[in-house]
Amino acid sequence: MPLATPHYLIDEAALDRNLARVDRLRAASGAKCLMALKAFATWSTFAQIAPHMDGSTSSSLNEVKLGREKFGGETHAYSVAWADHEIDEAIAQADKIIFNSIGQLERFHEKAAHLPVGLRVNPGVSHSHFDLADPARPYSRLGERDLSRVEAVMDRLSGFMIHCNCENDSFDSFAALLDRFEERLGHLFERIEWVSFGGGIHFTGENYPLDALAARLRAFAEKYRLQVYLEPGDAIVTGTTTLEVSVLDIVHNEKAVAIVDSAVEAHMLDLLVYRESGSVAPDAGPHRYVIAGKSCLAGDEFGEFDFPAPLAVGDRISLLDAGGYTMVKKNWFNGVPMPAIAIRRKNGTVELVRSFDYADYVTSLS
Ligand SMILES: *Cc1c(COP(=O)(O)O)cnc(C)c1O
Repeated sequence: MPLATPHYLIDEAALDRNLARVDRLRAASGAKCLMALKAFATWSTFAQIAPHMDGSTSSSLNEVKLGREKFGGETHAYSVAWADHEIDEAIAQADKIIFNSIGQLERFHEKAAHLPVGLRVNPGVSHSHFDLADPARPYSRLGERDLSRVEAVMDRLSGFMIHCNCENDSFDSFAALLDRFEERLGHLFERIEWVSFGGGIHFTGENYPLDALAARLRAFAEKYRLQVYLEPGDAIVTGTTTLEVSVLDIVHNEKAVAIVDSAVEAHMLDLLVYRESGSVAPDAGPHRYVIAGKSCLAGDEFGEFDFPAPLAVGDRISLLDAGGYTMVKKNWFNGVPMPAIAIRRKNGTVELVRSFDYADYVTSLS
């Protein structure tokens, strides 16, 4: 019997294709790749992912702990701001700790004296299509901006983290950014042992010039004699996961609207945050529908798509690219049933790895 909807369905074979590209990049560039748990933390898949990566990186103490416990390898601990009650545990679980500001570095560096300590530096340039996700946006708090202040603390630092890319699928754009980093920070790169260029580089895409990226990263690492890290999140899971939903009702209001057993805000939140449309395949045919969720949000729409045949109640729809920034953001808005999580194994069988019920809803509040 097919698994009930809604559920997220992760495809192991698709994940393998992305991971093969990660392996190629690591081998050709010498760069280390850390999984950014912020984008994807469905730990049932870590046994498959971790052997192709060097460890994990984090944006909170919970992610540090999850990385240490479930991912293995090197655990990088970063947070936009560590709280006093978090810092000891973060340091105890981490292989490197990265501070977001000189204020945090000064507050906590003595506790971390036995660890490699990094600082997030904000070079003031970026590649992002969205102001909301642009670390170089006006008044950004993401990373230290004042290089003269960075110079003054260099003796406490072994590396930098510079995260300035968001969904960047252009190698030329990344290479140009790297040129700008070198202009501004080259004299400091000579004095550190490692630099992480963060996430947001979409190098697992089919047409991405992986060899050019690898050559550029290798040349950079050799020039400054340091270890390069990348922190891909979305690039690891892009194209691997669908949100499987079923049609519950079809209504007409100038357009045909199919209501499904899911909700955008609860299960694919970023479509709303970034005002994007979801996608289906092949999205072709003479029958056009708005695919809408069952929450009471008026704009709860996954998108408008074409289908080869009329939809009927009970039909199943696969919403594509539901891996990154979905399961880590899902919520109980409207009490809509939480999608289960399933994995399509390489032999084709679909295995349910987690389901949620009323008790989970109740325990999410008090
Ligand atoms: C968000 C983030 C990542 C992962 O970004 P992706 O776009 O998912 O690759 C990596 N590092 C840092 C510091 C981040 O904030």
